[in-house]
Amino acid sequence: MKSSKTMTDEIIQTHSSGSSIDEAVTLSIVVPVFNEAEAVGYFLERLKQVFEKGARINLDIVFVNDGSTDNTLSRLLELQRDNTTIRIVDLSRNFGKEAALTAGLKAAKGHVIVPIDVDLQDPPELIPKMIEKWREGFDVVLGKRINRDSDSWSKQKSSTWFYRLHNKISDLQLPENVGDFRLMDRAVVDALGELTESRRFMKGLFAWVGFRTATIEYTRPKRSAGRSKFNGWSLWNFALEGITSFSNAPLRIWTYLGSAVAFTSFIFALFIMLRVLVYGTDVPGYASIIVSITFLGGIQLIGIGIIGEYLGRTYIESKHRPVYLVRRIYEIKD
Ligand code: UDP
Ligand code: MG
Repeated sequence: MKSSKTMTDEIIQTHSSGSSIDEAVTLSIVVPVFNEAEAVGYFLERLKQVFEKGARINLDIVFVNDGSTDNTLSRLLELQRDNTTIRIVDLSRNFGKEAALTAGLKAAKGHVIVPIDVDLQDPPELIPKMIEKWREGFDVVLGKRINRDSDSWSKQKSSTWFYRLHNKISDLQLPENVGDFRLMDRAVVDALGELTESRRFMKGLFAWVGFRTATIEYTRPKRSAGRSKFNGWSLWNFALEGITSFSNAPLRIWTYLGSAVAFTSFIFALFIMLRVLVYGTDVPGYASIIVSITFLGGIQLIGIGIIGEYLGRTYIESKHRPVYLVRRIYEIKD
């Protein structure tokens, strides 16, 4: 680009972090891995193909070994011998993907940072396109899945419903069909680092920090090797985590539900009194009593459960435990 820029060009072509568009960029690729010995080799191979020609891009590859119990770590160390741009953050146990991502973002040194799954479900070919968008002046470039045929029907449906519900009851809008795969400017990652909560629903935190955002669409392919670490139950818990992280609506709904039930029973009481006055006492009523007792008991238990959910979160946050513990960082200094 020409050196004689106008003032407005200058503004548009620097990022929130102040990184200029022209200089050679360092790209940090953050890859959480949990029992992925089979997948890491394929992943690096593909990455190599994508960045072979990119002379203006320095790579900084951060693998976070999230307490793998197979030989993922030894595989990574083996691969590191041929590729000194790899660093390995080895966590002390399995802390879950959200914590592993947090660890990786903290370790990343680049001007731009891209979290990515190791199983090639987030195509690395998209990263150069994301960098182009970043060069246009965007701080965040989202990868949006336009086709999720590779996911099961139930996973697609439950995800659609989750986003609908979440976006209805929360002030924070989560973009649909967008995972953790995205490019972020240094400033965005620094902002994320300032968020102190220890229960980290990354999708929500990513959306919460904001910044100038662009979107690139892609088709999500099948996993390269190994199997998914998330089953139905863990996805359900993940959804609860998301909703309780960013919305108080489930807590407040009880005031309205309680009022509605109380109002209805008041009307019902009036109705019974009138009926007694007109027709005299009526002994049968066993069924309706049992139904209303169990119904109200159920509603109360759900209410208590939801309060418990939030109380539990407060309890865990109040301990201020670190999000993860690092056992060791492996890096080759040159
Ligand atoms: N992962 C992790 N810790 C976990 C579970 C998963 O670091 O406790 C990593 C996993 O190795 C992969 C990424 O998170 O790189 C996405 O996992 P997966 O492909 O199983 O999720 P899915 O694509 O099925 O949602
Ligand atoms: Mg996957």
